[in-house]
Amino acid sequence: MTQVNGIEFTQNLVPSSKYSIKCPNVMIAKKITIHNTYNDAKASNEVSYEVTNANQVSFHIAVDDLGAIQGIPFNRNAWHCGDGANGYGNRNTIGVEICYSKSGGSKYTKSEQNAIKYIAALCVQQGIVATTDTIKKHEDWSGKHCPHRILDEKRWATVQKAIIDEYSRITKAPSKPSITPSKPATGSTNAGGSVVDYLNSKKIDSSMANRKKLAVNYGIANYTGTAAQNTALLNKLKAGAAPSKPTQSVYKGNSLVDYLVSVKKASDKASRAKLASQNGIKNYTGTAAQNTQLLKKNAWILKNKMEKREFIK
Ligand SMILES: [Zn+2]
Repeated sequence: MTQVNGIEFTQNLVPSSKYSIKCPNVMIAKKITIHNTYNDAKASNEVSYEVTNANQVSFHIAVDDLGAIQGIPFNRNAWHCGDGANGYGNRNTIGVEICYSKSGGSKYTKSEQNAIKYIAALCVQQGIVATTDTIKKHEDWSGKHCPHRILDEKRWATVQKAIIDEYSRITKAPSKPSITPSKPATGSTNAGGSVVDYLNSKKIDSSMANRKKLAVNYGIANYTGTAAQNTALLNKLKAGAAPSKPTQSVYKGNSLVDYLVSVKKASDKASRAKLASQNGIKNYTGTAAQNTQLLKKNAWILKNKMEKREFIK
């Protein structure tokens, strides 16, 4: 079983032979539209009914007390907003049905709580920033009284805010560095936990790309930004541990050009000729013998320079 933000997630996707009925258009989701099913069926039944009937009615996800079930791919549109074939809701939003709304009760309450957690994570997955502008209700598109239970209980603003708050919570968690804002907060001081905060407090670029570079320098292999790797990196940065030697400085081959490239020095012939004259090699024409001589003379000089180079930009 897959979990998304603690919610069980399964798929019962509509067969592609039915795309023309259920989800004919490619879509890049920009917003979420929330519905109540006006029914007392579980999510698996809602989705299996959706994908087997031949009606031009569809939604992407149904959520109940047990979890979330997907019926339509997120990169295709679904017919759930009642705003027409080219309506903004139908063509740009992911439809989420919250189950058991007809009679309410504890199953409904749990379904709605699950939907809040799931939708927040769905926003992160889809690159949608959860705001009052992106978390919409069916009513916003066509005036239909949906999600009926939430509207009847006058809780739309509360539910919408709960999704936005949950989105903020999971995007600020230190275990999600890939979505942590990379802009340094000016004058901030590091309170402890986060490597991003630490780097920001030192006015060092905390982007994923730079953390990757730092991880290499500190000997952390295959950095992907996991919480464990971030903690390791933070500890090493704080300890001021000497970075492991850059791989560029340990070139052991016999090609001068490759060596110069490996240490990011100009390797064109003019540059090599200049280097040659600086090293007392006269009439440099780029012969193999001259290159080898130059390589031997220069390897240690450049190596020393490399080790003194700034490893943090
Ligand atoms: Zn609806």
